[in-house]
Amino acid sequence: LGGRITCAIRKMNNVTIIDEKSLNECLNEITRALLQSDVSFPLVKNMQTNIKNIVNLQDLAVGHNKRKIIEQAIFSELCKMLDPGKPVFNPKKTKPSVVMFVGLQGSGKTTTCTKYAYHHQKKGFKPALVCADTFRAGAFDQLKQNATKAKIPFYGSYTESDPVKIAVEGVDRFKKENCDLIIVDTSGRHKQEASLFEEMRQVAEATKPDLVIFVMDSSIGQAAFDQAQAFKQSVSVGAVIITKMDGHAKGGGALSAVAATKSPIIFIGTGEHMDEFEVFEAKPFVSRLLGMGDLSGLVDKLQAVVPKEQQTTLVENLSQGNFTLRIMYDQFQSLMNFPLKELYSMLPGISAELMPKGHEEESRAKMKRYMTIMDSMTNEELDSSNPKVFSETRMMRIARGSGRIVSEVMEMLNEYKKLATTFGKGKGQNMSKILPPQLL
Ligand code: GDP
Ligand code: MG
Repeated sequence: LGGRITCAIRKMNNVTIIDEKSLNECLNEITRALLQSDVSFPLVKNMQTNIKNIVNLQDLAVGHNKRKIIEQAIFSELCKMLDPGKPVFNPKKTKPSVVMFVGLQGSGKTTTCTKYAYHHQKKGFKPALVCADTFRAGAFDQLKQNATKAKIPFYGSYTESDPVKIAVEGVDRFKKENCDLIIVDTSGRHKQEASLFEEMRQVAEATKPDLVIFVMDSSIGQAAFDQAQAFKQSVSVGAVIITKMDGHAKGGGALSAVAATKSPIIFIGTGEHMDEFEVFEAKPFVSRLLGMGDLSGLVDKLQAVVPKEQQTTLVENLSQGNFTLRIMYDQFQSLMNFPLKELYSMLPGISAELMPKGHEEESRAKMKRYMTIMDSMTNEELDSSNPKVFSETRMMRIARGSGRIVSEVMEMLNEYKKLATTFGKGKGQNMSKILPPQLL
């Protein structure tokens, strides 16, 4: 998608006169790309109109960088679409809140309930989980398992079949036990069915939730709008959580969920584990949606952060597929200077291999070690486009020089080979998996 958008903008940049016609062609190209990313048609159409208003060609003085202005307009339009301008309910520790989760089966409700509870527990809340899913066999066991792992109190039943009854019992009990955040997990159906929405309406009426959260799988695509709207019509949805952002989906459906529920996205799920949960931020989400990790975008951003004299070689090397040891060194260095937590929230898909989640400190130490080893290499070795063959004596020399052992030198070279394969010829777009977003 990002490639296509950048391509469309570049195409326009190549024409000498940017007129109505070339702007329209560019916008049409962008529209097609967004539709393919599951952004719904009315939203795209609306955005197109807004952009045309922002980029008023007559008003743009000669010398203005039209391409930049259009790029910025697209970015800020998409960010605006993600902000419904409505504050979201925030649970407080002084008064018990009830938060109800809704969404189709498999969207990730039960998993997300626990993540949400765990997130607040870490902030000093006393959360509790209520399983009001009596539809799916094993639903209570799943919630129980999750809750036990996180040491969060839970309530549910193996025999009771009335979800409303369980929900009310659970909420009452945890209010008495002074829990301040009572989370009600509900059932889903495979399809949008009247019986499901009636059940949600009844559970909401009986438990009077302070907040209803709609949970949506990022990969549902163009169905997002109808699905979100259907829930909104039966219960008063106040927030959205998008799950499975660790997968391939770019999550364009999220824009539809916001539009349909008129509610903000508050978190995203980035994995199956309890702590794979991030506070939602519009800008990195839009960057990802636009796939700004492609090589041409990279070249632009490089100009801002990399000293002029280094630019040409890095860009040339990358476009020729020459991923040298020195490039790896430079990348490690820029990753070092970046707070890791921030990096993760900006770049959900960062190379899992290089920096497995939960091992950030180890990864940092590892990169430092590799850099020390590379410090003992010659310029020739660092700049070679094929440094794959290292004799034993050479590795011993490097190990000695860096105060490391040969097996560590080999480990570093293996890591390099893996990355070189990823970033080999014509694979420039893969840079997005490793580069910090400032460089993208
Ligand atoms: P529910 O039917 O809506 O309660 O959905 P579940 O919570 O049971 O989740 C359905 C499946 O999606 C499970 O296998 C979860 O482990 C998985 N899942 C949920 N959230 C995420 C996520 O953010 N990333 C990934 N990769 N899997 C997820
Ligand atoms: Mg469930």
